[in-house]
Amino acid sequence: MAEFCLECFNQIEERNYTRKDVKLSFLPDLCEGCGESRRIVVGLKHRRTGYRSAQSKKTDSK
Ligand SMILES: [Zn+2]
Repeated sequence: MAEFCLECFNQIEERNYTRKDVKLSFLPDLCEGCGESRRIVVGLKHRRTGYRSAQSKKTDSK
């Protein structure tokens, strides 16, 4: 798996993940995007989408 820092990861995935959305490596590693030693994205955290969808469902049924 390629290793990218959060900035490069967002560019590649065309997303706007924040540090809270992703799991970053504990130690800096070489990013394959910008070539700098940064903490790289090792995974995504599960977002709490349930809360939002539950709310929109409520308003829909009204
Ligand atoms: Zn990078």
